[in-house]
Amino acid sequence: MKKHNFSAGPSILSPYTIKNTADGIMDLNNSGLSVMEISHRSKDFMAIMDETQQLFVELLDIPTGYSVLLLQGGASMQFCMIPYNLLKTKAAYLDTGAWANKAVKEAKLFGDVDVVASSKDTTYSYIPKGYAIPSDVDYFHITTNNTIYGTEIKEDMDSPVNLVADMSSDIFSRPVDVSKYALIYGGAQKNLAPAGVTFVIVKDDILGNMDRAIPTMLDYRTHIDKGSMFNTPPCVSIYAAMHTLRWYKEQGGVAAMYKLNMEKAGMLYDEIERNSVFTSGIGDEADRSIMNVTFVMKDEYKEKEADFLAFAIGRGMSGIKGHRSVGGFRASIYNAMPKSSVEALIDTMKDFEKSL
Ligand SMILES: *Cc1c(COP(=O)(O)O)cnc(C)c1O
Repeated sequence: MKKHNFSAGPSILSPYTIKNTADGIMDLNNSGLSVMEISHRSKDFMAIMDETQQLFVELLDIPTGYSVLLLQGGASMQFCMIPYNLLKTKAAYLDTGAWANKAVKEAKLFGDVDVVASSKDTTYSYIPKGYAIPSDVDYFHITTNNTIYGTEIKEDMDSPVNLVADMSSDIFSRPVDVSKYALIYGGAQKNLAPAGVTFVIVKDDILGNMDRAIPTMLDYRTHIDKGSMFNTPPCVSIYAAMHTLRWYKEQGGVAAMYKLNMEKAGMLYDEIERNSVFTSGIGDEADRSIMNVTFVMKDEYKEKEADFLAFAIGRGMSGIKGHRSVGGFRASIYNAMPKSSVEALIDTMKDFEKSL
């Protein structure tokens, strides 16, 4: 039985991505060779790299003056690469969860960190508001979608300093005004491709102002100069990303994905509100993620948590157990998640309610 894959990451990919990637793994463009076994300097692979970067520009409407880098090391490597390249004396961070925290920890190795606001007091159940972004810092770092807790910053904010965003789990889920950001980054394994490639969209003119020496591999300028080909890139992950982006384009681009995402998330949140068994842990509707929908049992049903999980698994639902730090449930409904799977989850929640 094909499962409904609600995994938080690595996560669901479209059948289009999986089928086309599998075809190229067997035989790339009738070349008689697999995409896994050809030179990254070959004409075939160079075309894949170029198209992938070009599709980033097209789908996200990236203005001139920015570079799209396809690197390795995951979003976690960016936690150190960003301060290495950008933190002279002090940076500001918004603490909205575990990933934001990890980014703060790395930045502290390079300078002062001003955590301007935090929602740690309630296990990150909201996005802090009403804070001021200091103007005397080298950059301000945010995590737009908090994959673990199910909160999201859905609007592109104005910042008096370079705005840096971890968009690992919401890139391509909504239109983004890239011009408001100095740097956007993320791992591939939520909305793009199997794990392996890490994207970085960086404004070229923010670089080159550091006094410290930067190791070659950790210097963004290396990868800009070499078109992300300084060393061997993660070829298969990039190939899969290209197919995902082609599919997004075919579906009508990011605006179409956003419309569908709003529908899917809306349906699921409506059911969480309606259902007498469940409740959302995210009080402010404006903060609710359209990618990771978290919910818990109401107090009177708390002891039924394992029952619902077993019930849902029996209905083909995979990956809905909440992160260990929050408990409850989390349905990750990334771009590739069809509406029919969200409907199947809603039916499961309704039937569980009836069974009690
Ligand atoms: C998954 C995730 C990460 C970690 O990504 P890696 O590629 O595993 O390093 C970082 N930030 C956010 C928001 C994530 O969802």
